[in-house]
Amino acid sequence: MSAPVLVLLGPPGVGKGTQGDRLAEKPGWVRLGTGDLLREARREGTELGRKAEAYMDEGKLVPDDLILGLVREKLEELGQETRVILDGFPRTDIQARGLDELLPDLGRTVDGVLLFEAPDETLVKRIAGRRSCPECETLYNVYFDPPPEEGKCGRCGAELFHRKDDRPDTVQGRLDVYREQTEPLVRYYEAHSAELLPIAGEQGMDEVWDQVRTSLRDALGLEV
Ligand code: AMP
Repeated sequence: MSAPVLVLLGPPGVGKGTQGDRLAEKPGWVRLGTGDLLREARREGTELGRKAEAYMDEGKLVPDDLILGLVREKLEELGQETRVILDGFPRTDIQARGLDELLPDLGRTVDGVLLFEAPDETLVKRIAGRRSCPECETLYNVYFDPPPEEGKCGRCGAELFHRKDDRPDTVQGRLDVYREQTEPLVRYYEAHSAELLPIAGEQGMDEVWDQVRTSLRDALGLEV
């Protein structure tokens, strides 16, 4: 049997990246975050990075064909033994269908979808306090999870920054995009028999992590 593929579904700021990082610290697991991969492509100035730039800064979705090409390439590189966490992908109906078409070619399926939920006001507050490391992508929050030294990444020492699309004027638009284009994937996965595992994302990081572990163990028999 091939190693599991999990999807982390939920609005920006709900904690998918934090929980995905935590899961990816476990041996054999890798997190593929399309947002992180796109930011990396922008830093490196690749063609993909240049094409994605304007969409990202406006809080809009990057076209599906670019995203599907990127994910296919990364999944092919990883091989079947790697346990994969898809974070921030799929985000549209076309991406979900595209994923279901490409996984069988790689001998895989979506084994479970962790559905993170939290009220908009919690998300807006979390995003406003979020600071990112431009080098290693570690996330902090000035209110809930500050770095050991103000403004500096505790992992690699780089200067932290506030992502342009995390600023208040873009955040509400990103939440609207999520509700319109990504939330309907809940119905898609209900209809396509992947295990849907609800996670209450407004709780603290450790409580959310406990929910993630319990859900994976109880629903999928995965010990993490
Ligand atoms: P994230 O870090 O997941 O919040 O993503 C940041 C931005 O990257 C999004 O607002 C989109 O512009 C773009 N992006 C990331 N993942 C996707 C995706 N699966 N489909 C389309 N755009 C994406």
